[in-house]
Amino acid sequence: MGLSKLNGLYREVILDHANHPHNKGELPTSTNAMTLHNPTCGDTINLQVKVADNKIEDIAYTGEGCTISQASASMMTDAVKGKTTEQALAMAKIFSDMAIGKQRSASELAQLGDAQILTSIMEFPARIKCATLSWWALQRALLKQSDEEDNNE
Ligand code: ZN
Repeated sequence: MGLSKLNGLYREVILDHANHPHNKGELPTSTNAMTLHNPTCGDTINLQVKVADNKIEDIAYTGEGCTISQASASMMTDAVKGKTTEQALAMAKIFSDMAIGKQRSASELAQLGDAQILTSIMEFPARIKCATLSWWALQRALLKQSDEEDNNE
């Protein structure tokens, strides 16, 4: 499927994030990090998070892949920056619940900011992993214990 099937406004916001990504790059220092791959599409997200006082003080990513995966990382990082880790995990739960077909309320979706647009991708099962990859990376980065076992780099 192509982006052409999406609503025009949604498509514009997604392309804008993909072409002018927010928070793309590397942090000088981070407390949590996670790299995830989506082999079915060839997407990679390397996520770095700096948590201080239980808040996401800074977040950045590098990666490559399709428009949807990269736009999702840009939107996700925008949405969670400045949030507490609990708030960010709750947002990631909303997004990943959508990915497995659970319905969430409009007010819950509104918490996601621009990222709620990508929940419209759930109509296209082949692209769900692309949209959800960065949220899974966030969950795993924040929940990871101090050992680095989870890091598949
Ligand atoms: Zn993809």
